[in-house]
Parts: sequence; structure tokens; C-alpha cells
Amino acid sequence: MDAILDYMEKYDYENLFLCQDRALNFKAVIAIHDTTLGPATGGCRMWNRYAGEMDAIEDALRLARGMTYKYAAAGVNLGGGKAVIIGDPQRQDREPVFRALGKFINRLGGKYITGEDVGTTLEDMAYIRMETEYVVTLPTYLGGAGDIAPMTAFGTLRAMQACCNRVYGSDGLEGKRVVVQGLGAVGHNIVAQLHEAGAKMVVTDIDSAKVAAMVSRYGVEQVEPAAIYDVEGDIFCPCALGQVINDATLSRLKCKIICGSANNQLAEEHHGDVLEEKGMVYAPDYITNAGGTIYDTDRLGVGGVSHARGKEKVSRIYANMLRVFEIADRDQIPTYLAADRMAEERIRQIAEVKKYVDDLKP
Ligand code: NAD
Repeated sequence: MDAILDYMEKYDYENLFLCQDRALNFKAVIAIHDTTLGPATGGCRMWNRYAGEMDAIEDALRLARGMTYKYAAAGVNLGGGKAVIIGDPQRQDREPVFRALGKFINRLGGKYITGEDVGTTLEDMAYIRMETEYVVTLPTYLGGAGDIAPMTAFGTLRAMQACCNRVYGSDGLEGKRVVVQGLGAVGHNIVAQLHEAGAKMVVTDIDSAKVAAMVSRYGVEQVEPAAIYDVEGDIFCPCALGQVINDATLSRLKCKIICGSANNQLAEEHHGDVLEEKGMVYAPDYITNAGGTIYDTDRLGVGGVSHARGKEKVSRIYANMLRVFEIADRDQIPTYLAADRMAEERIRQIAEVKKYVDDLKP
């Protein structure tokens, strides 16, 4: 990115806010992409491995746009935003940093709502909450939903069921062989839920203790991390890194379905075209992994967490996936493009609804 405003014009961003405090050694970016559906919402990332500040700004902008699509496709009435604190994620003096961010967010008066992301924790969110109400992903003792990874896992399972319906003609996961990469917060919950559903699993993680725990608890098979792409199965479930569908892995993958929680699974968009050509069903990542944020943000505007209501909304990821397939068939396009189209169609339609004036005073 060479010119910020040109980039913002290209993808139709609304705002970009830069925040700094010299005494606190605090630098942050808040990007707002689109608020057609509701306040811009998206987590706060803390990261320092940027080549320069333009990189950090681009990251915030790109992630904010991703959130617009995620909420729109999920049927949630929120827009897309993201914050990036340019700083060491291991930084120890967290209270002043996150309270400072809270102050800046509060100035935006609810136009942006933040939450947890890479490099930040629920406790960091509690510091932000000291300065502003515009934060989700809070611990339960502050009225939040607490750990949302189990709901991200549940949403991914619902997406898997929709994919099985497309490929095998029925939703059942019983007896399906699922190849799981990454056994962290989401991955280990997916293994637990798949076990419950009667699936068989082959798992891997670079952390051997996590693998050992899953093997002893659920009797799953294990392989070395580098061998995971060669495993034959029904579903490949990436729950570790992004960009795992790439030139090197595409020819190795042997599953009919790719459905996992990892963000940015396609290294480049054309890899989604190749999956389509190979007859593999790709469940677009931002559809499958929306469960946590659907559950987390459900309390906004309706007052308070309801497990039953939140889980029911996450469950709709199944229907969202079926709609993606419908659009893919209708327009003869790969699923990753169909998901974008589904999101864009909803934003256009709701913008149309919103043009009617509620308050008829001139
Ligand atoms: P996590 O850090 O808890 O777990 C990631 C796991 O992947 C770790 O156990 C790590 O050891 C393992 N790993 C890293 N590199 C690996 C490799 N090369 N091979 C095998 N395993 C490897 O993260 P998480 O919260 O479970 O998230 C997993 C993915 O899902 C991430 O891409 C994340 O962005 C995405 N996601 C998570 C949530 C959520 O609710 N936590 C929501 C949406 C998307």
C-alpha cells in the first residue's frame, strides 16, 4: 500500500483513526470499513512484527474489511472494524496501554466496538472496559460470554455438516474421517465435539503435549505436522495457521471437504479456484469460524448473555453454508466468491431497507 486514501477508496472504507501517546509508548490504529449493518466491530490485535507503520495500517484496514463480510454473511447486524496496537504482545505494562485504547475507542461514541484478537487477552479487554462500554469478548464476571472457542468449534462443526450434506447427501458426521491440524483453543474443542458426534480423527500439532492429550482422551490417530496434508480422509480441518491451502499443499490434499476454523486458509484467491476444479468442497473460513463472534456479540442490543439464544444463532452457520452453495450453483462460481457475494447482497439489501426515513421531521 503506497497511498492510504487511495486504498480506502478502492475498498470503500469509512474511517481510519491513528492514536498515540508518547509517555505510554502507545501507538494504535483503528480502522472502520462499513457501518451499513451496524457499529463497526472487530477485535484488537497487538503485534510488533510489521515492516513499518504502513504495514500495520494495511493490516488493520484489511482485517476491518474482513469483519464486514463476516458479520454480513453471518446475518449479524454489525459492521466491520479492527484495531491494531503496534507493540510487543508480551508487553508487561498492559493496564495503561489497554485503558488508553479504551479512551480512544470511547471518543468514537460507539461507532467502533472492540474485542479480543491475536496478542490480546480477556484480561486486556477488562482494562478497556474500565474506560468504555464499547468492548465485547469480556470475561463472564464482567457480563461477557467468557471463552468463545467452544462456540467457534461448534460453528465449524455445523459448517462440516452442511458440507457433508452437499458431498454425501446427509449431515451425519458419524464414521467420517476428519484430519485436524492444530489442537489449540478451537482445535481441541473440535476434536471433543467430533468425538461426541462419532467421527474418527487423525490429528497433529507442533506441541506434542497437546497431541498426547487428545490421543489418550479420545483415542485419535496422530501424524507429524509435516505429514498432515497427505492423510486421506473425508474432511481436512485446518485449525492452526493461515495460508495452508497453497501451491505446495494443493497437490497433496486427499480429502473431499476442507472445513476448519483457521483464518485466511487460501494463500491466494486462485487456490480457491483450483479446489473447485479438483472437485473439493471448500467451506469459506469466515463462514465456518464465525461462531465465536456470533455468540459473543449476541448480547449487544438485547441485554445479557443467553447461552441458548447464542448457540441457536451459531447453529445457523449450517444454513449460511447451504446458502453459499446455492449462490455458487446459481452463479457458477467457487464457494469463496459465493460467500463474498452472499455478504455483499445482504449489505445492499439492508442499505435499501435503511433508506426509509424513520423520523419524518425535516
Ligand atoms: P491457538 O493458538 O489456541 O491454537 C493454534 C494451535 O495450532 C496451537 O496448538 C499450535 O501449537 C498449533 N500449530 C501452530 N503451527 C502449527 C503447525 N505448523 N502444525 C500444526 N499445528 C500448529 O489458536 P485458536 O484460538 O485455536 O485458533 C486457531 C485458528 O482459528 C487460528 O487461525 C485463528 O485465527 C482461528 N480462529 C479462532 C477463533 C477462536 O474463537 N479462538 C475464532 C475465529 C478464528
